[in-house]
Amino acid sequence: MTLTLSDPDLFRTQAYIDGKWVDADSGETFAVIDPATGEEIAQVPRMGAAETRRAIEAAERAQVGWRKLLAKERAKILRDLADAMLANADDLATILTAEQGKPHAEAKAEIAYAASFFEWFGEEAKRVSGETIPAPMPDRRIVVLREPIGVTVGITPWNFPSAMPTRKAAPALAAGCSMVLKPAEQTPLSALSVMVLAERVGLPAGVLSVVTGDAEDAPKIGGEMTSNPIVRKLSFTGSTEVGKLLMGQCAKTIKKVSLELGGNAPFLVFDDADLDDVIAAMMVAKFRNSGQTCISANRVLVQDGIHDAFVERMVELASGITVAPGFDPAAQIGPLIDQAALDKVLAHVGDAVERGGDVLVGGGIHEQGRTFFSPTIITGADMDWQMSNEETFGPVAAIHRFSDEAAAIRTANATPFGLAAYLFSQDHARIWRASEGLEYGMIAINTGFISTEVAPFGGIKESGIGREGSQHGLDDFLEYKYLAWAGVRG
Ligand code: ADP
Repeated sequence: MTLTLSDPDLFRTQAYIDGKWVDADSGETFAVIDPATGEEIAQVPRMGAAETRRAIEAAERAQVGWRKLLAKERAKILRDLADAMLANADDLATILTAEQGKPHAEAKAEIAYAASFFEWFGEEAKRVSGETIPAPMPDRRIVVLREPIGVTVGITPWNFPSAMPTRKAAPALAAGCSMVLKPAEQTPLSALSVMVLAERVGLPAGVLSVVTGDAEDAPKIGGEMTSNPIVRKLSFTGSTEVGKLLMGQCAKTIKKVSLELGGNAPFLVFDDADLDDVIAAMMVAKFRNSGQTCISANRVLVQDGIHDAFVERMVELASGITVAPGFDPAAQIGPLIDQAALDKVLAHVGDAVERGGDVLVGGGIHEQGRTFFSPTIITGADMDWQMSNEETFGPVAAIHRFSDEAAAIRTANATPFGLAAYLFSQDHARIWRASEGLEYGMIAINTGFISTEVAPFGGIKESGIGREGSQHGLDDFLEYKYLAWAGVRG
């Protein structure tokens, strides 16, 4: 399959280590597949521990000079990279849609979001200030420096092939760290296309490397990343299961970890909600990216008084969504990423039907075939359903009915996860009560949009540790160094 690009050079099928485009030591490759067609887009290197080690060693060498640059100099490179991404947004989005499936317009929006991290963190790098603390003794002075943590590694998932790598690399590089990144096996091409631009804007060799591998290689690459003593920090986005494994591996060398793991987002609609707001938010929080985001609404909890009107509007919404390949300009949602994703959604819907759920729209594979799934509305949901306890990661809204506010908050919290929650109400007291009662890292109030580079994205409980975006995202790549000075006499 050939992609139509204005700049074909952005399409790279080699990994990028220490400033060079390289194959695997073994010469072996794996296929990257277009989820909309099943066609092969590219063959990409199957790498392992040895290539990863070399990338880490290069990152160690490169970090020495990188951290010494003025914040302003690092910021300039990051700014240029953001600009280069925006200037090439069409091509980058084409590569993204080909490997991930989301509609091209949405892919383009992801490129803008991905670029925003380089711009914002570059600017913020200039504001990494230390502290002076009044000392408890007359001849003492206490100074606190903030320094880059050192060599870092990032492992990212396939649902945002451009934004997840940049959300990790941007704060790392801004802080003066170097990074070795492993993109998901389903979507390595977007990360590689950003590296072409990084090279063009003059990012020094070794500061950011991308190591590729397929599912079988991931434990080898991850094993090296988490055991190599040079590495000081891991930033991971993916499943809770793999996050737990990697955190355990990092324990042996006490690496700092940032984990952005699974969610099971409740979407609470109270009687006094504005239905137009709710439906607009549902389009974003439930159907965008075919429901394949860790902040996708997974349990839709709707109060008695608004339930029937909400269901009616949801049926209208879901029936009107255009499901099509991402390159079709009319597409609102594309295919699911792969067969395993489809099987999970089918299993969740099957379980819901078995337990008495009422499928009002959709319920199965879309007429486009393959892994395209019909937008689906199911009523009568209960907490014992599979989809109430696990992320469905599909365009399926299961609607629970509730009458009591406090009980709804308890239901919303009845999960080991705590990433995002959504709530809809016009009553300010209720919004405060619910926001304070919900055990989540992020609460969206009367909106479906949460993600922005300026705010701290992240979860609590088994949804993760640390934050990405905002000054807190930068802080995760910095260490404090306290200077205890004595002898200031006279
Ligand atoms: P998902 O279910 O979204 O694919 P995963 O947690 O399986 O989530 O994958 C997220 C990222 O973690 C991908 O880049 C994947 O290759 C990587 N990964 C999976 N297993 C391991 C592992 N054992 N060690 C290191 N990385 C892994």
